[in-house]
Amino acid sequence: MLRPVTDLSRAELAAWCEEHGQQPYRADQIRRWIFGKRVDAFEEMHDIPAALRTALAEEFRLFASTVVRHQVSRDGTEKLLLALHDGEHLECVLMREDDRRTVCISTQVGCAMGCVFCASGLEGVTRNLSMGEILDQVLRLDRVLGPDERITNVVVMGMGEPLANLKNLLPTLKTLNEKGAFGLGARRVTVSTVGLPDRMAELAKEKPAYNLAVSLHAPNDELRTQIVPVNKSIGLEAILQAADEYFDKTGRRVTYEYVLLAETNDRTEHARELASLLQKRNAHINVIPMNPVAPLDHHAPAMPRTQQFVETLRGLGVNVTVRKRKGADIDAACGQLRLRHEQSDDLVTLET
Ligand code: SF4
Repeated sequence: MLRPVTDLSRAELAAWCEEHGQQPYRADQIRRWIFGKRVDAFEEMHDIPAALRTALAEEFRLFASTVVRHQVSRDGTEKLLLALHDGEHLECVLMREDDRRTVCISTQVGCAMGCVFCASGLEGVTRNLSMGEILDQVLRLDRVLGPDERITNVVVMGMGEPLANLKNLLPTLKTLNEKGAFGLGARRVTVSTVGLPDRMAELAKEKPAYNLAVSLHAPNDELRTQIVPVNKSIGLEAILQAADEYFDKTGRRVTYEYVLLAETNDRTEHARELASLLQKRNAHINVIPMNPVAPLDHHAPAMPRTQQFVETLRGLGVNVTVRKRKGADIDAACGQLRLRHEQSDDLVTLET
């Protein structure tokens, strides 16, 4: 199987061009076609010499995946199920809201964190995605957009723990940010983590700095370890300290995510405890009523309980937003489409 060309950094592609008797600037031209002009094949790159296009096609694939399913929600959300070269699957989502076109992308096949409300972690982690496989989700979703639409934001919140794949995540973020590639401002890119303190410190060294979201889901270690089992070996204190250091170093306010699970972490006392953790921090919290996931026991609380939770936080001076559910009619919960696909035999290839 040929390697995806998007596994190469700008410098690696420039070196490859030189090996083929071409000037390094050809790499910039190739990248403009891939990231900016939405081509689907090397032969569409009209300003690239024919011999170089042939060499590219002999050595590389333009895409790292094939589209297996494409779901469109009534609210404009679109979701792709992608197949990788080794038969693994992953999913990525495009969300539309006003002028924003946000894509949510995955960094691993499966996930080792085991959050109890998430379909992606049900079978553990299989492997990390390569840079090309992570970028491919952005490329595929970019090609779903209309001619006048552009991706405005990227959230690394799909399948997998992004900071567990930092080696491939960092060059991916760089490519998203580079003017000669995707050209997306770092402020428009958010990395979400369950909280791996050493890796958060690594990410804090990046320039420009990206937004960081930390998934808390509980206000104390006992409950958090039930919901996010990996917490047992880390603990809230170390995570909050690493988040504070991220803010100190980058100046970026950290967002905290809290998936609200009925009769688990949705009591008023939980909101009070959460407020006591966050009210002295320059923090914002996103409360996310759980998306239903078929094989899992948990579900979202009723709306009045969600409102009570949120009002308690607000009353105690915490900045809080309730995240709207997107694509409720298309298996929008993390990992759900992939799970349903892998439990059935109805593989339909829509696009290659
Ligand atoms: S919520 Fe995120 S970190 Fe937790 S199991 Fe799912 S993919 Fe992994």
